[in-house]
Amino acid sequence: MIPLPKKLIYLDHAATTPVDARVLEVMQPYFMEDFGNPSSFHTMGMRAKEVVTTSRKTIAHLIGAHDDEVLFTSGGTESNSLALFGIIQAHKSAILDTRYSISDTISLPHVITTSIEHHAVLEPLLHWQKQKQIELTVLSVDREGRVSIKDLESALKPTTILVSIMMANNEIGTIQPIADIGRAILTWRKEHKTIYPFFHSDACQAAGFLDLNVDKLHTDLLTINSSKIYGPKGVGLLYLRRGTKIEPLVRGGGQERNLRSGTENVPGIVGFAKALELAHAEREQESIRLTELRDYLVEGLMKIPKSRLNGHPTDRLPNSVNVSFLDIEGEAAVLYLDAEGIMASTGSACASSSLDPSHVILATGLSYEAAHGSIRFTLGRKTTKEELDHVIKVMPGVIERLRKMSPVNLDMKYFE
Ligand SMILES: *Cc1c(COP(=O)(O)O)cnc(C)c1O
Repeated sequence: MIPLPKKLIYLDHAATTPVDARVLEVMQPYFMEDFGNPSSFHTMGMRAKEVVTTSRKTIAHLIGAHDDEVLFTSGGTESNSLALFGIIQAHKSAILDTRYSISDTISLPHVITTSIEHHAVLEPLLHWQKQKQIELTVLSVDREGRVSIKDLESALKPTTILVSIMMANNEIGTIQPIADIGRAILTWRKEHKTIYPFFHSDACQAAGFLDLNVDKLHTDLLTINSSKIYGPKGVGLLYLRRGTKIEPLVRGGGQERNLRSGTENVPGIVGFAKALELAHAEREQESIRLTELRDYLVEGLMKIPKSRLNGHPTDRLPNSVNVSFLDIEGEAAVLYLDAEGIMASTGSACASSSLDPSHVILATGLSYEAAHGSIRFTLGRKTTKEELDHVIKVMPGVIERLRKMSPVNLDMKYFE
Protein backbone atom coordinates (compact mmCIF):
# COMPACT_ATOMS: atom_id res chain seq x y z
CA MET A 1 0.00 0.00 0.00
CA ILE A 2 0.99 3.63 -0.49
CA PRO A 3 2.62 4.76 2.77
CA LEU A 4 0.92 7.44 4.86
CA PRO A 5 2.77 10.73 5.30
CA LYS A 6 4.34 11.26 8.73
CA LYS A 7 2.33 14.37 9.28
CA LEU A 8 -1.17 13.95 7.91
CA ILE A 9 -3.71 16.75 7.72
CA TYR A 10 -7.05 15.43 6.52
CA LEU A 11 -9.25 18.19 5.13
CA ASP A 12 -11.58 16.19 2.89
CA HIS A 13 -14.46 15.40 5.24
CA ALA A 14 -17.03 16.11 2.52
CA ALA A 15 -15.66 13.07 0.67
CA THR A 16 -15.85 10.88 3.74
CA THR A 17 -15.24 10.97 7.47
CA PRO A 18 -13.38 8.50 9.68
CA VAL A 19 -15.60 6.20 11.74
CA ASP A 20 -15.99 7.58 15.26
CA ALA A 21 -14.57 5.24 17.92
CA ARG A 22 -17.93 5.29 19.72
CA VAL A 23 -19.62 4.16 16.50
CA LEU A 24 -17.16 1.33 15.89
CA GLU A 25 -17.66 0.13 19.44
CA VAL A 26 -21.41 -0.38 19.10
CA MET A 27 -20.98 -2.07 15.71
CA GLN A 28 -18.42 -4.60 16.88
CA PRO A 29 -20.72 -7.33 18.30
CA TYR A 30 -22.71 -7.56 15.06
CA PHE A 31 -19.87 -8.99 12.99
CA MET A 32 -18.91 -12.16 14.85
CA GLU A 33 -21.27 -12.71 17.77
CA ASP A 34 -24.69 -11.38 16.83
CA PHE A 35 -24.31 -12.04 13.13
CA GLY A 36 -27.83 -13.34 12.47
CA ASN A 37 -29.96 -12.52 9.45
CA PRO A 38 -32.98 -10.43 10.53
CA SER A 39 -35.21 -12.56 8.29
CA SER A 40 -34.38 -15.81 10.15
CA PHE A 41 -36.99 -17.15 12.56
CA HIS A 42 -34.58 -18.39 15.21
CA THR A 43 -33.16 -16.50 18.17
CA MET A 44 -30.12 -15.23 16.25
CA GLY A 45 -32.40 -13.85 13.55
CA MET A 46 -34.77 -12.28 16.04
CA ARG A 47 -31.89 -10.59 17.83
CA ALA A 48 -30.67 -9.10 14.56
CA LYS A 49 -34.18 -8.00 13.67
CA GLU A 50 -34.57 -6.41 17.06
CA VAL A 51 -31.44 -4.31 16.72
CA VAL A 52 -32.42 -3.12 13.25
CA THR A 53 -35.80 -2.11 14.68
CA THR A 54 -34.17 -0.24 17.54
CA SER A 55 -31.79 1.55 15.17
CA ARG A 56 -34.67 2.52 12.92
CA LYS A 57 -36.55 3.93 15.93
CA THR A 58 -33.53 5.94 17.04
CA ILE A 59 -33.11 7.47 13.59
CA ALA A 60 -36.83 8.09 13.08
CA HIS A 61 -36.94 9.96 16.38
CA LEU A 62 -33.95 12.12 15.40
CA ILE A 63 -35.53 13.25 12.13
CA GLY A 64 -39.07 13.58 13.47
CA ALA A 65 -40.36 10.64 11.45
CA HIS A 66 -42.41 7.49 12.10
CA ASP A 67 -40.41 4.27 12.27
CA ASP A 68 -42.00 2.91 9.10
CA GLU A 69 -40.89 5.99 7.15
CA VAL A 70 -37.19 5.05 7.35
CA LEU A 71 -35.82 2.74 4.63
CA PHE A 72 -32.23 1.53 4.90
CA THR A 73 -30.13 1.43 1.73
CA SER A 74 -26.49 1.08 0.70
CA GLY A 75 -25.81 4.83 0.85
CA GLY A 76 -26.59 8.23 -0.57
CA THR A 77 -26.44 7.21 -4.21
CA GLU A 78 -28.91 4.38 -3.80
CA SER A 79 -31.27 6.48 -1.68
CA ASN A 80 -31.30 9.20 -4.33
CA SER A 81 -31.90 6.69 -7.11
CA LEU A 82 -34.67 5.01 -5.14
CA ALA A 83 -36.34 8.37 -4.49
CA LEU A 84 -36.18 9.57 -8.09
CA PHE A 85 -36.85 6.29 -9.87
CA GLY A 86 -39.40 5.25 -7.25
CA ILE A 87 -41.55 8.36 -7.58
CA ILE A 88 -41.32 8.60 -11.36
CA GLN A 89 -42.20 4.94 -11.91
CA ALA A 90 -45.03 4.87 -9.40
CA HIS A 91 -46.73 8.07 -10.53
CA LYS A 92 -45.93 8.70 -14.18
CA SER A 93 -49.14 7.25 -15.55
CA ALA A 94 -51.38 8.85 -12.93
CA ILE A 95 -50.06 12.32 -13.51
CA LEU A 96 -50.37 12.13 -17.28
CA ASP A 97 -53.82 10.52 -17.28
CA THR A 98 -55.41 13.07 -15.01
CA ARG A 99 -53.85 16.19 -16.46
CA TYR A 100 -53.77 15.72 -20.18
CA SER A 101 -56.69 13.56 -21.14
CA ILE A 102 -57.50 15.73 -24.16
CA SER A 103 -54.17 16.64 -25.63
CA ASP A 104 -52.43 15.88 -28.89
CA THR A 105 -48.95 16.50 -27.63
CA ILE A 106 -47.39 13.62 -25.78
CA SER A 107 -46.40 14.95 -22.41
CA LEU A 108 -43.88 13.46 -20.06
CA PRO A 109 -43.73 13.51 -16.28
CA HIS A 110 -41.92 16.70 -15.35
CA VAL A 111 -39.08 16.80 -12.81
CA ILE A 112 -37.40 19.90 -11.37
CA THR A 113 -33.89 19.90 -9.94
CA THR A 114 -30.93 22.30 -9.71
CA SER A 115 -27.67 22.71 -11.58
CA ILE A 116 -25.57 22.06 -8.46
CA GLU A 117 -26.96 18.70 -7.36
CA HIS A 118 -24.66 15.78 -6.64
CA HIS A 119 -24.05 13.47 -9.59
CA ALA A 120 -26.18 10.88 -7.81
CA VAL A 121 -29.20 13.09 -8.55
CA LEU A 122 -28.17 14.74 -11.81
CA GLU A 123 -26.90 11.70 -13.69
CA PRO A 124 -30.04 9.54 -13.40
CA LEU A 125 -32.27 12.52 -14.22
CA LEU A 126 -30.21 13.51 -17.27
CA HIS A 127 -30.21 9.88 -18.38
CA TRP A 128 -34.00 9.62 -18.21
CA GLN A 129 -34.32 12.94 -19.96
CA LYS A 130 -32.14 11.64 -22.79
CA GLN A 131 -34.23 8.46 -22.91
CA LYS A 132 -37.32 10.69 -23.22
CA GLN A 133 -38.84 9.27 -20.06
CA ILE A 134 -39.08 12.60 -18.27
CA GLU A 135 -39.12 16.29 -19.01
CA LEU A 136 -36.44 17.94 -16.91
CA THR A 137 -36.06 21.50 -15.66
CA VAL A 138 -32.65 22.29 -14.17
CA LEU A 139 -32.89 25.46 -12.09
CA SER A 140 -29.85 27.68 -12.14
CA VAL A 141 -28.31 29.13 -9.00
CA ASP A 142 -26.96 32.57 -8.15
CA ARG A 143 -23.30 33.51 -7.67
CA GLU A 144 -23.42 32.10 -4.18
CA GLY A 145 -25.01 28.84 -5.16
CA ARG A 146 -28.58 29.49 -4.02
CA VAL A 147 -31.72 28.60 -5.96
CA SER A 148 -34.53 31.10 -6.19
CA ILE A 149 -37.95 30.07 -4.90
CA LYS A 150 -39.52 32.36 -7.53
CA ASP A 151 -37.75 30.40 -10.27
CA LEU A 152 -39.01 27.18 -8.76
CA GLU A 153 -42.55 28.50 -8.56
CA SER A 154 -42.55 29.54 -12.19
CA ALA A 155 -41.21 26.14 -13.22
CA LEU A 156 -44.01 24.22 -11.49
CA LYS A 157 -46.75 22.92 -13.77
CA PRO A 158 -49.54 20.35 -13.70
CA THR A 159 -47.26 17.58 -14.94
CA THR A 160 -44.58 18.23 -12.32
CA ILE A 161 -44.25 14.97 -10.45
CA LEU A 162 -41.13 15.61 -8.38
CA VAL A 163 -38.83 18.38 -7.15
CA SER A 164 -35.35 17.36 -5.96
CA ILE A 165 -33.18 20.02 -4.32
CA MET A 166 -30.21 19.27 -2.10
CA MET A 167 -30.03 20.67 1.42
CA ALA A 168 -26.35 21.60 1.42
CA ASN A 169 -23.89 21.41 -1.42
CA ASN A 170 -20.96 19.01 -1.19
CA GLU A 171 -18.56 21.22 -3.16
CA ILE A 172 -19.22 24.78 -2.06
CA GLY A 173 -21.17 24.17 1.16
CA THR A 174 -24.05 26.49 0.26
CA ILE A 175 -27.21 25.75 2.26
CA GLN A 176 -30.56 25.93 0.47
CA PRO A 177 -33.69 27.25 2.21
CA ILE A 178 -35.29 23.79 2.19
CA ALA A 179 -38.09 24.62 4.64
CA ASP A 180 -39.14 27.64 2.55
CA ILE A 181 -38.97 25.61 -0.63
CA GLY A 182 -41.04 22.90 1.02
CA ARG A 183 -43.63 25.44 2.09
CA ALA A 184 -43.83 26.89 -1.43
CA ILE A 185 -44.47 23.41 -2.81
CA LEU A 186 -47.16 22.74 -0.19
CA THR A 187 -48.88 26.00 -1.10
CA TRP A 188 -48.78 25.12 -4.79
CA ARG A 189 -50.30 21.71 -4.11
CA LYS A 190 -53.06 23.24 -2.02
CA GLU A 191 -53.89 25.86 -4.62
CA HIS A 192 -53.98 23.27 -7.39
CA LYS A 193 -55.71 20.62 -5.26
CA THR A 194 -53.15 17.95 -6.10
CA ILE A 195 -50.74 15.63 -4.33
CA TYR A 196 -48.03 16.53 -6.85
CA PRO A 197 -45.19 17.32 -6.94
CA PHE A 198 -43.42 15.32 -4.26
CA PHE A 199 -40.41 17.00 -2.68
CA HIS A 200 -37.10 15.18 -2.25
CA SER A 201 -33.94 16.58 -0.68
CA ASP A 202 -30.45 15.10 -0.62
CA ALA A 203 -29.22 15.88 2.89
CA CYS A 204 -26.00 13.83 2.85
CA GLN A 205 -23.78 16.83 3.61
CA ALA A 206 -26.26 18.51 5.91
CA ALA A 207 -26.82 15.63 8.32
CA GLY A 208 -23.84 16.44 10.48
CA PHE A 209 -24.79 20.08 10.98
CA LEU A 210 -28.41 20.97 10.29
CA ASP A 211 -31.80 20.13 11.76
CA LEU A 212 -33.28 17.30 9.74
CA ASN A 213 -36.80 17.38 11.13
CA VAL A 214 -38.83 16.30 8.13
CA ASP A 215 -41.97 18.09 9.25
CA LYS A 216 -40.20 21.41 9.60
CA LEU A 217 -38.53 20.85 6.23
CA HIS A 218 -41.76 19.71 4.52
CA THR A 219 -39.90 17.06 2.56
CA ASP A 220 -41.66 13.91 1.37
CA LEU A 221 -38.37 12.14 0.75
CA LEU A 222 -34.98 12.77 2.31
CA THR A 223 -31.60 11.14 1.66
CA ILE A 224 -29.01 10.71 4.40
CA ASN A 225 -25.87 8.59 4.36
CA SER A 226 -23.63 7.36 7.10
CA SER A 227 -20.15 7.80 5.63
CA LYS A 228 -20.31 11.61 5.84
CA ILE A 229 -21.23 11.67 9.52
CA TYR A 230 -18.51 9.48 11.09
CA GLY A 231 -20.44 6.27 10.48
CA PRO A 232 -19.43 3.29 8.34
CA LYS A 233 -19.42 3.48 4.53
CA GLY A 234 -22.02 1.70 2.43
CA VAL A 235 -25.12 2.47 4.44
CA GLY A 236 -27.72 5.18 4.12
CA LEU A 237 -31.42 5.78 4.32
CA LEU A 238 -34.34 7.18 2.47
CA TYR A 239 -37.00 8.88 4.52
CA LEU A 240 -40.34 8.27 2.79
CA ARG A 241 -43.39 10.11 4.10
CA ARG A 242 -46.37 7.89 4.97
CA GLY A 243 -48.75 7.51 2.08
CA THR A 244 -46.12 8.27 -0.57
CA LYS A 245 -46.05 5.45 -3.09
CA ILE A 246 -42.79 4.46 -4.74
CA GLU A 247 -41.62 1.58 -6.92
CA PRO A 248 -38.65 -0.39 -5.61
CA LEU A 249 -35.35 -0.35 -7.47
CA VAL A 250 -34.32 -3.73 -6.06
CA ARG A 251 -36.79 -6.58 -5.77
CA GLY A 252 -36.27 -9.85 -3.98
CA GLY A 253 -36.82 -11.08 -0.45
CA GLY A 254 -39.08 -8.18 0.49
CA GLN A 255 -37.00 -6.49 3.17
CA GLU A 256 -37.65 -2.82 4.04
CA ARG A 257 -41.38 -3.11 3.44
CA ASN A 258 -40.78 -4.59 0.01
CA LEU A 259 -39.13 -1.36 -1.08
CA ARG A 260 -35.51 -2.43 -0.79
CA SER A 261 -34.83 -6.14 -0.82
CA GLY A 262 -31.57 -7.66 0.34
CA THR A 263 -30.18 -8.78 3.70
CA GLU A 264 -29.90 -5.78 5.98
CA ASN A 265 -26.40 -4.43 6.70
CA VAL A 266 -26.89 -4.98 10.42
CA PRO A 267 -23.55 -3.66 11.77
CA GLY A 268 -23.76 -0.78 9.31
CA ILE A 269 -27.27 0.14 10.39
CA VAL A 270 -26.29 0.00 14.07
CA GLY A 271 -23.28 2.24 13.39
CA PHE A 272 -25.32 4.62 11.25
CA ALA A 273 -27.88 5.10 14.04
CA LYS A 274 -25.13 5.78 16.56
CA ALA A 275 -23.40 8.19 14.18
CA LEU A 276 -26.59 10.17 13.63
CA GLU A 277 -27.26 10.21 17.36
CA LEU A 278 -23.78 11.63 18.03
CA ALA A 279 -24.07 14.16 15.20
CA HIS A 280 -27.39 15.32 16.60
CA ALA A 281 -26.07 15.65 20.15
CA GLU A 282 -22.88 17.44 19.18
CA ARG A 283 -23.76 19.44 16.10
CA GLU A 284 -24.51 22.74 17.82
CA GLN A 285 -21.24 22.93 19.68
CA GLU A 286 -19.29 21.47 16.81
CA SER A 287 -20.81 23.96 14.37
CA ILE A 288 -19.66 26.87 16.51
CA ARG A 289 -16.14 25.45 16.76
CA LEU A 290 -15.87 24.66 13.07
CA THR A 291 -17.35 27.95 11.87
CA GLU A 292 -14.62 29.76 13.73
CA LEU A 293 -11.93 27.52 12.23
CA ARG A 294 -13.49 27.74 8.77
CA ASP A 295 -13.47 31.52 8.78
CA TYR A 296 -9.91 31.51 10.07
CA LEU A 297 -8.82 29.37 7.13
CA VAL A 298 -10.74 31.55 4.65
CA GLU A 299 -9.11 34.67 6.02
CA GLY A 300 -5.67 33.11 5.69
CA LEU A 301 -6.24 31.89 2.14
CA MET A 302 -7.79 35.14 0.96
CA LYS A 303 -4.47 36.89 1.62
CA ILE A 304 -3.11 35.09 -1.41
CA PRO A 305 -3.47 37.36 -4.47
CA LYS A 306 -6.05 36.57 -7.15
CA SER A 307 -8.19 34.36 -4.93
CA ARG A 308 -11.94 34.11 -4.44
CA LEU A 309 -14.18 32.33 -1.92
CA ASN A 310 -16.80 30.17 -3.64
CA GLY A 311 -20.25 29.55 -2.22
CA HIS A 312 -22.36 31.59 0.15
CA PRO A 313 -20.36 33.75 2.60
CA THR A 314 -22.56 32.88 5.60
CA ASP A 315 -25.27 30.37 4.62
CA ARG A 316 -22.74 27.62 4.20
CA LEU A 317 -21.77 24.48 6.05
CA PRO A 318 -19.57 25.17 9.08
CA ASN A 319 -16.87 22.86 7.72
CA SER A 320 -16.70 23.92 4.10
CA VAL A 321 -14.11 26.14 2.39
CA ASN A 322 -13.89 26.33 -1.39
CA VAL A 323 -11.46 28.80 -2.90
CA SER A 324 -10.51 29.56 -6.50
CA PHE A 325 -7.08 30.81 -7.49
CA LEU A 326 -6.46 32.24 -10.95
CA ASP A 327 -3.75 30.80 -13.23
CA ILE A 328 -3.49 27.40 -11.57
CA GLU A 329 -4.99 23.95 -11.99
CA GLY A 330 -6.84 22.79 -8.89
CA GLU A 331 -5.72 19.19 -9.50
CA ALA A 332 -2.06 20.22 -9.51
CA ALA A 333 -2.54 22.14 -6.27
CA VAL A 334 -4.15 19.06 -4.69
CA LEU A 335 -1.10 16.97 -5.69
CA TYR A 336 1.32 19.55 -4.28
CA LEU A 337 -0.69 19.70 -1.05
CA ASP A 338 -0.73 15.91 -0.90
CA ALA A 339 3.08 15.94 -1.04
CA GLU A 340 2.92 18.13 2.08
CA GLY A 341 0.62 15.63 3.81
CA ILE A 342 -2.46 17.80 3.30
CA MET A 343 -5.49 15.97 1.91
CA ALA A 344 -7.75 18.38 0.02
CA SER A 345 -9.93 18.10 -3.06
CA THR A 346 -10.99 19.95 -6.19
CA GLY A 347 -14.64 19.17 -5.66
CA SER A 348 -16.65 16.01 -5.52
CA ALA A 349 -14.78 12.74 -5.21
CA CYS A 350 -16.60 11.40 -8.22
CA ALA A 351 -15.68 14.32 -10.47
CA SER A 352 -12.00 14.24 -9.62
CA SER A 353 -11.17 11.57 -12.19
CA SER A 354 -11.96 13.98 -15.01
CA LEU A 355 -10.07 17.19 -15.62
CA ASP A 356 -13.17 19.23 -16.39
CA PRO A 357 -13.87 21.95 -13.87
CA SER A 358 -16.62 21.24 -11.41
CA HIS A 359 -20.18 21.61 -12.67
CA VAL A 360 -21.04 23.29 -9.38
CA ILE A 361 -18.42 26.04 -9.63
CA LEU A 362 -19.37 26.63 -13.27
CA ALA A 363 -23.04 26.84 -12.25
CA THR A 364 -22.24 29.72 -9.91
CA GLY A 365 -21.18 31.69 -12.97
CA LEU A 366 -17.42 31.42 -12.77
CA SER A 367 -15.65 31.28 -16.13
CA TYR A 368 -14.17 27.99 -17.30
CA GLU A 369 -10.65 29.38 -16.77
CA ALA A 370 -11.32 30.55 -13.24
CA ALA A 371 -13.25 27.44 -12.27
CA HIS A 372 -10.18 25.30 -13.04
CA GLY A 373 -8.29 26.62 -10.05
CA SER A 374 -10.74 25.59 -7.33
CA ILE A 375 -9.69 23.80 -4.17
CA ARG A 376 -11.97 22.47 -1.45
CA PHE A 377 -10.98 22.04 2.17
CA THR A 378 -13.58 20.41 4.41
CA LEU A 379 -12.89 20.37 8.13
CA GLY A 380 -13.84 17.72 10.66
CA ARG A 381 -14.11 16.71 14.31
CA LYS A 382 -10.37 16.28 14.72
CA THR A 383 -9.33 19.41 12.78
CA THR A 384 -7.22 21.82 14.83
CA LYS A 385 -6.14 25.41 14.43
CA GLU A 386 -2.51 24.23 14.23
CA GLU A 387 -3.38 22.14 11.19
CA LEU A 388 -4.96 25.13 9.50
CA ASP A 389 -1.96 27.27 10.39
CA HIS A 390 0.16 24.79 8.51
CA VAL A 391 -2.12 24.97 5.46
CA ILE A 392 -2.08 28.76 5.56
CA LYS A 393 1.71 28.63 5.73
CA VAL A 394 2.33 26.27 2.80
CA MET A 395 -0.46 27.43 0.50
CA PRO A 396 1.12 30.67 -0.80
CA GLY A 397 4.24 28.73 -1.86
CA VAL A 398 2.18 26.07 -3.63
CA ILE A 399 0.19 28.67 -5.54
CA GLU A 400 3.31 30.65 -6.40
CA ARG A 401 5.13 27.59 -7.76
CA LEU A 402 2.13 26.65 -9.90
CA ARG A 403 1.74 30.17 -11.20
CA LYS A 404 5.40 30.25 -12.25
CA MET A 405 4.70 27.28 -14.52
CA SER A 406 1.41 28.62 -15.77
CA PRO A 407 1.15 29.77 -19.38
CA VAL A 408 -1.74 32.10 -18.47
CA ASN A 409 -1.94 35.28 -16.46
CA LEU A 410 -5.58 36.19 -16.00
CA ASP A 411 -6.77 39.34 -14.33
CA MET A 412 -9.37 39.59 -11.60
CA LYS A 413 -12.17 40.28 -14.05
CA TYR A 414 -12.32 36.50 -14.55
CA PHE A 415 -13.89 36.35 -11.11
CA GLU A 416 -16.60 38.86 -11.94
C1 LIG B 1 -21.56 11.62 -0.73
C2 LIG B 1 -22.81 12.15 -1.29
C3 LIG B 1 -23.69 11.33 -2.00
C4 LIG B 1 -23.37 9.88 -2.31
O1 LIG B 1 -23.39 9.08 -1.18
P1 LIG B 1 -22.76 7.60 -1.20
O2 LIG B 1 -23.03 7.08 0.16
O3 LIG B 1 -21.33 7.76 -1.53
O4 LIG B 1 -23.47 6.83 -2.24
C5 LIG B 1 -24.85 11.88 -2.47
N1 LIG B 1 -25.14 13.17 -2.27
C6 LIG B 1 -24.32 14.00 -1.59
C7 LIG B 1 -24.70 15.42 -1.40
C8 LIG B 1 -23.13 13.51 -1.09
O5 LIG B 1 -22.32 14.34 -0.44
